[in-house]
Amino acid sequence: MKAVNPRTGKADYDFDATPPEEVAATARALRIRQPEWEARGPDGRAEVLRAFAAEVDRRADAITQALDLDTGRTAIARMEVETLQRTLHRWAARAPQLLDGLPRNPAPSLTPAITITPRWSAYPLFGAIAPWNFPVILSHIDAVPALAAGCAALVKPSEVTPRFCAPLREALNAVPSLPLAYVLGGPETGQALVEQVDYICFTGSTATGRKVAQAAARRLIPANLELGGKDALIVTASADPLAAARIALRASVVATGQACQSIERIYVARQIEDGFLAALVQLAEQTLLAPEGGPLGPFIFPPQAAKVQAQIDEAIARGAQVLTGGKVVQLGGGAYLRPTVITGVSPDMAVMREETFGPVLPVTAYADVDQAIALANAGEYGLAAAVIAGDAEEAARIGERLDAGAVSLMDAGLTTYVGDAANHSRRASGLGPSRMGDEGLLRFMRRQALIRQDGAALPLAAYSQ
Ligand code: NAD
Repeated sequence: MKAVNPRTGKADYDFDATPPEEVAATARALRIRQPEWEARGPDGRAEVLRAFAAEVDRRADAITQALDLDTGRTAIARMEVETLQRTLHRWAARAPQLLDGLPRNPAPSLTPAITITPRWSAYPLFGAIAPWNFPVILSHIDAVPALAAGCAALVKPSEVTPRFCAPLREALNAVPSLPLAYVLGGPETGQALVEQVDYICFTGSTATGRKVAQAAARRLIPANLELGGKDALIVTASADPLAAARIALRASVVATGQACQSIERIYVARQIEDGFLAALVQLAEQTLLAPEGGPLGPFIFPPQAAKVQAQIDEAIARGAQVLTGGKVVQLGGGAYLRPTVITGVSPDMAVMREETFGPVLPVTAYADVDQAIALANAGEYGLAAAVIAGDAEEAARIGERLDAGAVSLMDAGLTTYVGDAANHSRRASGLGPSRMGDEGLLRFMRRQALIRQDGAALPLAAYSQ
């Protein structure tokens, strides 16, 4: 397969997709290693996870450089590699506390003369399928707690961003006791992975998530899905328009909008609409593209730029006004878009219904808060949302009524860096337990009950009609 450099638009990286038979062989090898891994106990595993973090640290520059080529982002690439190390340390510290705290003591049952002893064991083989927007973070966000729980882990990063895998495999080779393996490739490799594992965590689009859930259902394995979003931000009449505009811009355009928790719809109280829009447009126009020395990198996946442009064009054709931005530009072979502020949008336009995954800010003014909440709750997604009001209490009263897994108050997109806010993605944005918080690890533990008869076993006659 070939991967494209997002800065140059050139398909300059060749790699071999892992064929299904090799995925199966890798899975078998991991299964053989898993019992020994689980038998190490949480402290023994924590030691190995910390050793892996040290090996990642030793190769941090090489991994960051490869990821920089994968994504066309320098600062975020560095941050992703640091986040992987922090994730390893965090679960290495937390896993022993969580696992040692699980109930294990025999206890009398509600049924007389019966004693129940709970036992815990990890799903033997965990699998992850990751998208291209945060390749390192999302390849490991579920895999690290799964390993800490005692699973072996098989991870498939996105075929769009495969470069980081080579230096990361070198780090992994230096820690032979860690039962983790990466397989590369597209849908075929992903499908083969789902056929092998005992628990699948998928992060990606809702369309692919449905296919993964169906494949998992056929095998009767748990599927944990983290999917697309169309996050809304409500800005109330009591909010500071300039501060709200600053937050809205950042939360919409960071990582060129290629984040599941990007703000993609803004509902602002009519009383402050003018001040908010004026500030937003001014801030948007001050935000430079990376080739100009600014923070906005290229689109990672070239077809994404065309999809975003099509959404903008459809909105314009149906009467929307672009206040700034609006045209994808080619610079040095990479595709870029300036922060794009749009008004005059309606709920049935693609830019208001479908995930955009670009630095686009459609703004709608509302007359009363009930209307804003109804608009924010429209559509099929329920990933995250945000409310900026005059104070946190007012924001919380609105936040409670939003149909989304996580709601940022007095800010937006806080799930980007708050890792302990356990929440469940709603509707078409996900399925299953939270990846954040302690549930992020405990979901990988299966409970077994040893049920002891302390009295006389019942005779068959006890069941007679
Ligand atoms: P995608 O669905 O196209 O691909 C994701 C992964 O699935 C890739 O590794 C791909 O190779 C694999 N895949 C494709 N078809 C498959 C199949 N039939 N069986 C198994 N695997 C298959 O998503 P993408 O375009 O790479 O990523 C962008 C999407 O990810 C956006 O929708 C975004 O919102 C979502 N996302 C969600 C979260 C979250 O936490 N909710 C985080 C980041 C990204």
